[in-house]
Amino acid sequence: MRILLCGGAGYIGAHAYVVLVERGHDVVVADNFSNSSPGVLVRLQQITGHPVPFQPLDLRDREAVVGFFARQQFDAVVHFAALKAVGESCERPLDYFHNNISGTLNLLHGMQAAGVKRLVFSSSATVYGDPASVPVREDARLQVTNPYGRTKLVMEQLIGDLCESDPGFHAANLRYFNPVGAHASGLIGEDPTGIPNNLMPYICQVAVGRREHLSVFGGDWPTPDGTGVRDYIHVTDLARAHADALDFLVRERRNLTVNLGTGQGISVLQLVNAFAGAAERAIPYQIVARRAGDVAEVYADPSLANDVLGWRAELDVDAMCRDAWRWQSQNPQGYPSA
Ligand code: NAD
Ligand code: UDP
Repeated sequence: MRILLCGGAGYIGAHAYVVLVERGHDVVVADNFSNSSPGVLVRLQQITGHPVPFQPLDLRDREAVVGFFARQQFDAVVHFAALKAVGESCERPLDYFHNNISGTLNLLHGMQAAGVKRLVFSSSATVYGDPASVPVREDARLQVTNPYGRTKLVMEQLIGDLCESDPGFHAANLRYFNPVGAHASGLIGEDPTGIPNNLMPYICQVAVGRREHLSVFGGDWPTPDGTGVRDYIHVTDLARAHADALDFLVRERRNLTVNLGTGQGISVLQLVNAFAGAAERAIPYQIVARRAGDVAEVYADPSLANDVLGWRAELDVDAMCRDAWRWQSQNPQGYPSA
């Protein structure tokens, strides 16, 4: 298939690019580099052995998006492009609504005008908020706790309405749990700008000496060791699921909403200890107050993904830590500026 990756220069998109090219697809990356850098394209070329077809594109520019779809033919779109920082979304909700929701609307307009009828969408476990019970199934109550989460829920709903209106349009909403790790080559990985919001990139920056210590947000959660529990999933496993979801849309011609996690809950301290083992160095940390908006425990029931996609996570926490550390230690400051 000829596939467009919107936001394909980002962390998850870059890993999905590699998998899709390995599966023989013809893949084009579109991005505005608002949270990524052209350096990733150089690395993707090194991994795949071929130049990366790239289109500068800002999804907020409807004319540009529709014009692009009018000039190029695609069999499917994978839509990663979004702003994703929870704290920032509380400070600048309108920017999040504009970028994520209006951007998605523009993309859907472009696809509809050009007759492109397959979409894989990056949703998130954030749509479950603070779940009533774990593991979380796809039919759990949806409730969002911040503007970022609201954009993900609204986008799922907009896509759902479009699918309803056009029986030929099929979409897969992939609800990611906590993506971590990096490509086994160490050439691509997570490269956050500024202070990392997420646990794994923060640990990586402590390990490589960019930050003094990790702050563990809360040691008094109702969990086995008192720290927050999440479902960390290796980005390579996650990337594979996108190729499987595209195959599903072609084969089954129906819509899908599915959790992508390992099904295993890991605490902050378990992840810190696993990383210290993989990197063979101590990760200094201090337990501090809980972070506003955090929840105790979230992990997936991933059985639907196994049933309908034949997908399951294969890489364990040690592999996640080993690969995250390989990327960070080989690239202490992230991607070189191109
Ligand atoms: P990322 O920021 O690394 O990648 C997103 C990419 O989209 C970036 O390259 C950015 O420049 C681009 N982009 C943003 N707005 C754009 C616009 N208007 N036009 C064109 N390009 C634009 O993020 P990621 O971690 O790779 O996440 C990918 C997707 O997965 C996002 O939609 C995110 O919300 C979702 N998600 C991520 C996580 C996570 O923890 N990383 C968890 C759940 C869901
Ligand atoms: N966390 C932490 N210190 C940090 C970042 C995160 O203790 O610097 C904790 C956080 O409270 C949560 C877990 O690590 O229990 C995962 O947080 P992250 O932000 O990576 O993912 P999310 O909260 O979105 O699941």
